[in-house]
Amino acid sequence: MLLSLGVERRNSVLKIVVALGGNALGNTPQEQLELVRQTAKPIVDLVAAGHQVVLAHGNGPQVGMINLAMQYAAEAGANTPEMPFPECGAMSQGYIGYHLQNALREELVRRGLRKPVAAISTQVIVSEEDQAFQTPTKPIGSFYSEDRAKRLELDKGWSMVEDAGRGWRRVVPSPKPLDIVEKESIMKLVEANHLVIAVGGGGIPVVKDGEKLLGVAAVIDKDFASAKLAELIDADYLIILTAVDKVAINFGKSDEKWLDELDLNMTHQYICEGHFAPGSMLPKIQAAIQFASSKPGRKTLITSLERAIDGIEGRTGTLIKA
Ligand code: ADP
Ligand code: MG
Repeated sequence: MLLSLGVERRNSVLKIVVALGGNALGNTPQEQLELVRQTAKPIVDLVAAGHQVVLAHGNGPQVGMINLAMQYAAEAGANTPEMPFPECGAMSQGYIGYHLQNALREELVRRGLRKPVAAISTQVIVSEEDQAFQTPTKPIGSFYSEDRAKRLELDKGWSMVEDAGRGWRRVVPSPKPLDIVEKESIMKLVEANHLVIAVGGGGIPVVKDGEKLLGVAAVIDKDFASAKLAELIDADYLIILTAVDKVAINFGKSDEKWLDELDLNMTHQYICEGHFAPGSMLPKIQAAIQFASSKPGRKTLITSLERAIDGIEGRTGTLIKA
């Protein structure tokens, strides 16, 4: 199957980072195991077409579930230690990675394709100086009463905020990814024709402390981490698979307009005009620009998981290029 992604490179092998959104994984282990079987198909289509694929994914509901369960058990005195947040992120990478490995292997075998699949537990370096550490924004874990929240602030040094009238919650920072610790291993596996899963949930955030890397309670946006991964492994394409076929301006309004292409000037203008929602489409657009402007020829496609193949073949999706 020929891909129209960059017609100028037809017949050549492309290195592609595919970022999966929440709709690729679902909310429970049963749902996830079912959904990943569908998710595997467009990924394996890319592999079947001869491309080198690295898969990245989100982990919001999964890390939330693990964090809550560990917290609940520790607070109930169930002989369970308190589990730090970076460790919860690492657990979610393992859990999601296992399901993706399982489903991708099955789909590859079904099509008679021989290709090893490996999920890499990935640490992503962030800076302690990142402004995000001054203003934590990502709510995680349980809801608490105001009294309890104030006590947790004092006892554990957590930042707590009132979350939309539902109670008080811990918030953690969302710093920008600077580097990927396991990038060389990822590159080697890609070169050796493995299908690699990496930077799950945006990666486990670590800060440098001399020779050491220390895990920090933070959440790196998976779209930014995917763009950083694509940049570092010198990918040709970043494909962000989400819940919409295309990016729109005036999204959800009567004059909504779906976009086939975006260049950097248009993108900057639309960002300034507030067309992309913070926390959902805005980080994808920012990640897209970051990657597309990092080297000539690099492009980002944003499309839906359901229509991934149509998007990759140029029949839908929004292509962002410099
Ligand atoms: P993911 O889990 O894939 O990261 P998100 O929910 O974070 O998904 O982001 C995708 C969502 O962004 C879409 O489903 C859509 O509802 C929303 N969205 C916000 N602004 C726009 C826009 N301008 N164009 C298209 N979708 C938008
Ligand atoms: Mg998102």
